[in-house]
Amino acid sequence: MTHRDRRPSRRALLAGVAAGGAALALPRRPARAFGLPAAPPPPAPARRIGFALVGIGKLTQKQLIPALRTTRVARLTALVSGHADKAKRVAAAEGVPERNIYSYETFDRIVDNPDVDVVYVVLPNSMHAEYTIRALRAGKHVYCEKPMAVTPAECEQMIAAARKAVRQLGIGYRLHFEPYNQELIRIARERELGALKFIAATAGTVPDPNQWRLDKKLSGGGSMVDIGIYALQAVRTVTGEEPVSVSARATMWKDIDETLAFSMTFPSGLLASCVSTYAAHVSRVDVAATAGNFGLEPALYYHGIKGFRSDGKPFAFADMDQFAAEMDDFAVCVRDGKATRVPGEEGLRDVRIIDALYRSAATGRDIKLG
Ligand code: NAD
Repeated sequence: MTHRDRRPSRRALLAGVAAGGAALALPRRPARAFGLPAAPPPPAPARRIGFALVGIGKLTQKQLIPALRTTRVARLTALVSGHADKAKRVAAAEGVPERNIYSYETFDRIVDNPDVDVVYVVLPNSMHAEYTIRALRAGKHVYCEKPMAVTPAECEQMIAAARKAVRQLGIGYRLHFEPYNQELIRIARERELGALKFIAATAGTVPDPNQWRLDKKLSGGGSMVDIGIYALQAVRTVTGEEPVSVSARATMWKDIDETLAFSMTFPSGLLASCVSTYAAHVSRVDVAATAGNFGLEPALYYHGIKGFRSDGKPFAFADMDQFAAEMDDFAVCVRDGKATRVPGEEGLRDVRIIDALYRSAATGRDIKLG
């Protein structure tokens, strides 16, 4: 639904004017005395934005559904799953009517469901493009998990589909809604500790060995597409620049990168050095500047992020739910017709750079970016 669609109808406006007019003209007598209907009910609160979650896996069950119990503008209204029993169980627990459960086969019928404004794609990476494009064709706004897709060409198709449908496409970059990461960017951009000299970012996790993440057909890659993307995001958002050249070396697990060590150079001459890995749970960002250094460790977890700065100034925030924040923000964007801060174009930039990193690791050469 667009902002335009939700404008009050002419009939509703006229009813409101009539009610207001009656109240003004006849303040002391009940409306019934004149054969008019009783006072109109109070206006309905602004409609909340309905989210359909596609895929009821770990992120959906452990983070998104609990977050949707607390959101103020977004609300869970539909589920899409290949497992009917699981979908029914979750729907019953969350108050989602059975008519709003879809399978992957019946998914396109969501076009007829006014309860759904946003389709949130939470599937293995290689399925993001297909379900995003199908949802956009059904006239829904789409929020898609990271990585946006597995190739730059797929990302471009998704962006084109959003433009054609005149719908918003957002990418699940939750750290854009997380206060420590936003403060890191502020300190850097405002040069609070001087001009930036160097950035190092490390991001690692240990995946379930039996999962789709280790199957390249479904994941599109290894640690870099899954977790290293956060190191890349940290460097790009802190510098506010796009790399002009990248260089990477990898250790492989079968056909996916277990560890990818990479460096990037930026137009200002700034250098970044990063590690993405499936060998350990690690996450840290270090920024060195002319008057001191600052950073985060851990840098990207759901809770417990910590900040440090060498001048000893405070760097601490209250715990919050990043998923509730990102979904409410997207819901407000959809409701008010505002552009999301995490659009498809941002997802495409990362996927293009990751593509270049993989080419560098495969060839042993530096890759220049346009
Ligand atoms: P998961 O394996 O727990 O869930 C994947 C879901 O996809 C399951 O419900 C599964 O049934 C379904 N599915 C449909 N077709 C499938 C197929 N052919 N093979 C495997 N599963 C299939 O994965 P997850 O950890 O929930 O990750 C889902 C997406 O969310 C990924 O894109 C991942 O990168 C992203 N993610 C993002 C964050 C974050 O912090 N933003 C965290 C975790 C995962």
